[in-house]
Amino acid sequence: MKTIGLLGGMSWESSTTYYQIINEAVREKLGGLHSAKCIMASVDFAEIEILQSEGKWKEAALVLSQSAIDVENGGADFLILCTNTMHKIAAEIQQSLSIPLLHIADATAQRIKSHGIKRIGLLGTRFTMEEDFYKGRLIKKYGFDVIIPEDRDRKVVDDVIYNELCLGKIYDASRRAYQDIIQGLITNGAEGIILGCTEIGLLVKQEGNSVPFFDTARIHAEAAVAFALEEN
Ligand code: GLU
Repeated sequence: MKTIGLLGGMSWESSTTYYQIINEAVREKLGGLHSAKCIMASVDFAEIEILQSEGKWKEAALVLSQSAIDVENGGADFLILCTNTMHKIAAEIQQSLSIPLLHIADATAQRIKSHGIKRIGLLGTRFTMEEDFYKGRLIKKYGFDVIIPEDRDRKVVDDVIYNELCLGKIYDASRRAYQDIIQGLITNGAEGIILGCTEIGLLVKQEGNSVPFFDTARIHAEAAVAFALEEN
């Protein structure tokens, strides 16, 4: 079994999800007392969020690259960055490492492809919904037709992430707001919905929805386990 490197804390609310899913998946695959070999570095999200909102991506890349190097030096065989948004600087982090980084959008795209879906709705932070590093990757590398909520709804999705979910606050009113936005995407032809922020799965669930949800935290964690257990 390879040792999984996790770079988390963005926020820690979803890093705990990763840790749980990774260990459950290893136990399911190997049985008995088996659990995942992993090393995690967890950053202070307040420091990272300031860099994001001030657009200081180079500085953020330096901070996260240093943590990623710590994970590599701790013995990880590969790295997962436990947030969609910070994949904006995935290339810089990868450059600082000699171990591979398993990209969250690639793991998600492969899962969507296995459902034969073409038109997909995307929810996440404003960065993830609007910028090329994520949406563009899904379009250019995988040929998906990616749709996002209108501007006013993107603000709701983004506000709930930073002001509630990353603080561990799960509110019914926000769940209803998300459900309405998701329904709007489905009405616009979305055949599936990417929960493209690692905390969204804490708020909305698949049950009762007519199209599949792709929970990026779960998919990414499961992809990490598949890679860790791959024979080579
Ligand atoms: N965890 C979130 C994501 O998947 C948002 C927090 C962040 O900005 O990293 O994008």
